[in-house]
Amino acid sequence: MFEKILIANRGEVALRIHRACREMGIRTVAVHSEADANAMHVRLADEAVCIGPARSADSYLNKPAIISAAIITGADAIHPGFGFLSENADFAEMVEKHGITFIGPNAAQMRLLGDKITARKAAKEAGLPITEGSPALNSVDEAKQWAQKIGYPIIIKAKDGGGGKGMKIAFDESQIAEAYTMAKAEAKASFPSDVVYMEKYLQHPRHIEMQILADKFGNVIHLGERDCSIQRNNQKVIEECPSPALNQSQREEIGEIVRKAIAKIGYCNAGTLEFLYENGKFYFMEMNTRLQVEHPITEAVTGIDIVKEQIRIAAGAQLGYTQEDIKFNGHAIECRINAEDPQTFIPCPGKITEWHAPGGLGVRVDSEIYSGYTIPPYYDSMIAKLIVHAGTRNAALMRLRRALEEFVIMGVKTTIPLHQEIIAQPEYIDAQYDIHWLEKFMKSQEK
Ligand code: ADP
Repeated sequence: MFEKILIANRGEVALRIHRACREMGIRTVAVHSEADANAMHVRLADEAVCIGPARSADSYLNKPAIISAAIITGADAIHPGFGFLSENADFAEMVEKHGITFIGPNAAQMRLLGDKITARKAAKEAGLPITEGSPALNSVDEAKQWAQKIGYPIIIKAKDGGGGKGMKIAFDESQIAEAYTMAKAEAKASFPSDVVYMEKYLQHPRHIEMQILADKFGNVIHLGERDCSIQRNNQKVIEECPSPALNQSQREEIGEIVRKAIAKIGYCNAGTLEFLYENGKFYFMEMNTRLQVEHPITEAVTGIDIVKEQIRIAAGAQLGYTQEDIKFNGHAIECRINAEDPQTFIPCPGKITEWHAPGGLGVRVDSEIYSGYTIPPYYDSMIAKLIVHAGTRNAALMRLRRALEEFVIMGVKTTIPLHQEIIAQPEYIDAQYDIHWLEKFMKSQEK
């Protein structure tokens, strides 16, 4: 087992990884920017190294600085968390070249699955159901021909896309030129490549994703699904596990398809396969080759610590259980709490003057915040994840309502009022929502 792990991240996920390491008796190295010198993950780690100025490009994305920090401190492995370098195959390769273990899949798997075009091809060959789509598009005319073939509406996506960027929808031919040009321009501004392709656009799907774990010996298990359909700007806001849209036999069916596909692809470590689900059918969208923000709801329902499993798998251990050993208990819901104006979503960094997190049975808060902490303006605005777990979905909803009521965060605006409003809506309570429901609901509130 590793003796020392460098955590190449910040915020709540850095703390999350630190906690897993501590419980495994592994020492931790925090890295931080100049703006994060007072962060909780830095305070708690055994050692801390400043890797550069506030801007992410100069610090949390600074590959040589992070690898140097690992070498200087004698870390055996690097956990990348999510965001930043977590899906950067070049980084994974550099880490391994320096004799340090990258906690995640290998660089070749990351490249294959990080590119939406090659990932779709691999997924299809491995037996996963996918939406109809095109290869890389080279012109507006080609886009028009493919749209004709696939049938409108279609969505144009960047092959290297992420974070909901570089996606444009066209409902008929008159919208193709603009969708193609805009998607390409957004891709060029945000991603390494401006190559785009096209998929059939589903109009009322749910977003359902499967969590998997795979070891180096070809053992693959799934930990069930998460429903992440409550979204704004293609970004998840509330997630739940299990999905209220699936029954046990549907879960087992997609679970088996996913396990076979992952074994065929030869993937290793934790991963998430994202699907759209419409009219009883799954359509593979992409695979995230890293830990997901919403992993705690799966942990609550299965009792498995996904970060510890990632570390064990990277250290060469076998999965300690089979699919039959995995039991799904109760229902879990997560709210992503952002320091933002709940109406305009404008980030609201600043000093936290008072902080009181909810507690009690079945309540978990993953956050780096403490009273007196100043949220720097340079990074993501998510400041806490509230996760509740209870025997049934109804009980989980009641628990979530009371936990949100208990939460005290003073000094900055947060999205807590938005979460309270969402979970009070009949459509949410009855689980009658698709990926567009939240945006429609918010529009109906504007006046
Ligand atoms: P990213 O990598 O940027 O997160 P994804 O491919 O995962 O992009 O898609 C993000 C979101 O965009 C999905 O959760 C869904 O809401 C929407 N979306 C993506 N592809 C389609 C599609 N073919 N039809 C309908 N909605 C889609």
